[in-house]
Amino acid sequence: MSVAAQLEEAARACAREGGALTELRRQVLGLILEAGAPLTAYQLLDRLKETRKGAVPPTVYRALDFLLARRLIHKVESLNAFVPCIGPAHDGHQAQFLICRSCGSVTEIADEAVARALGEAASRLGFRPSSALIEVSGACVQCVRGAAGGR
Ligand SMILES: [Zn+2]
Ligand SMILES: [Zn+2]
Repeated sequence: MSVAAQLEEAARACAREGGALTELRRQVLGLILEAGAPLTAYQLLDRLKETRKGAVPPTVYRALDFLLARRLIHKVESLNAFVPCIGPAHDGHQAQFLICRSCGSVTEIADEAVARALGEAASRLGFRPSSALIEVSGACVQCVRGAAGGR
């Protein structure tokens, strides 16, 4: 799906939930979708400043908060950076991230079996999780192949 189509879908999802995907929010989401790699708030601010001279950190943080609340993006805590959500329904799924330490790519997997196993393990201990973010660091398939001699 093209970035433009993804933005249209996001705008519709926001309208359904109440809350408009304003021009600024759309722009920030567009930057995250186009990046193809996780972006920090300051990287977003730098890119935003190319078209919005008056952009300041709170401008970006407010837009990010909205996009996070609408589950259009995720925050990768260990990188302190933001990636688009792969879940087309933008349900409240738990996300797991595979973070490549050599090229910096982040791949989201939303594996229900992982989420369920974690939930069950927690509830056996009487623990009630409010959020669960799993970040796995390692090497992505391209980097593994590259290290093996490009085969
Ligand atoms: Zn997601
Ligand atoms: Zn890699």
